[in-house]
Amino acid sequence: MSEALNRDYRVSEELGKGRFGVVFKAYLSNSGEPFAVKSIDKRLIADDSVDRQCLYNEAKVMQLLSPNPHVLRIFHVYEDECFLHIVLELCNGSDLYQRIAARTVFSEAEANVVMRPLMEAIAHCHHLGIVHRDIKPDNVLFNDWNELKLADFGSAEFIDDGQLISGVVGTPYYVAPEVVAGRHYDEKVDVWSAGVILYIMLAGFPPFYGDSAPEIFEAVLRANVRFPTRVFNSLSPEVKDLLRRMLSKDVIRRFSAEQVLGHPWMAGEGGGEIRPVAVEEARPVAVIS
Ligand code: ATP
Ligand code: MG
Repeated sequence: MSEALNRDYRVSEELGKGRFGVVFKAYLSNSGEPFAVKSIDKRLIADDSVDRQCLYNEAKVMQLLSPNPHVLRIFHVYEDECFLHIVLELCNGSDLYQRIAARTVFSEAEANVVMRPLMEAIAHCHHLGIVHRDIKPDNVLFNDWNELKLADFGSAEFIDDGQLISGVVGTPYYVAPEVVAGRHYDEKVDVWSAGVILYIMLAGFPPFYGDSAPEIFEAVLRANVRFPTRVFNSLSPEVKDLLRRMLSKDVIRRFSAEQVLGHPWMAGEGGGEIRPVAVEEARPVAVIS
């Protein structure tokens, strides 16, 4: 553990684990204020890999995006021989993955409460020329005040207006078809992933499903969005329209984050009604990373 970090913070219990990093709770030494510290083990990342390029990107991107009410705030970065330590705003209040796994489905109104700040965070990234590239429920955190914070910018990339980027990055259920196809792509990959999240919250299962990663990728490439009547009959035409526009295989026709925010469903009460949850809808959501 870095000496400088230990001088400024009292590092406490582990909060979570990622691919290369462990996240700890830490208290600022002079005030006792709680934070989260993400410690990335540089030795686990090969020198020439894509992940290596992403290592410093994460802190750089977060510094550019902060402060924003819906983006996880960064406070400090410490580096020593083996670790990069990023001091972050603490989000003790669980993540969206846990919230989805803990229940059957969300009502439209409940999904709307999640989608508004999530899309505001994504629009903020896109305004600043940043593509997140790994929008998924486990990267959407909630703090003690139940405020949503978009997190984990380890896969983020900078993009200029009209420019395209490449690289297969993301998580099977949430990744956009143009990424799977190995084509160049833009910030609209994040809108696709947010559309998948909206679909999962409302339906209780993912729109593109398979038993293995290759099968999921095949389903994503077909991009055939279905609204099974058993589940979607009781949902508003507005939310189905929004889902079609977010999950459009045609990137030109796919909505931008700003257009999503301007869609009637986002501005409204999310259908207005709180949908009763039927017992037979109780299906676990299988989400793989
Ligand atoms: P991956 O790339 O596998 O998603 P990662 O190495 O990029 O993971 P994060 O997703 O940033 O790491 O964090 C790993 C876990 O630590 C999260 O799933 C979450 O449970 C916890 N965590 C991350 N940031 C915070 C925070 N600010 N407050 C509380 N817990 C956090
Ligand atoms: Mg993560």
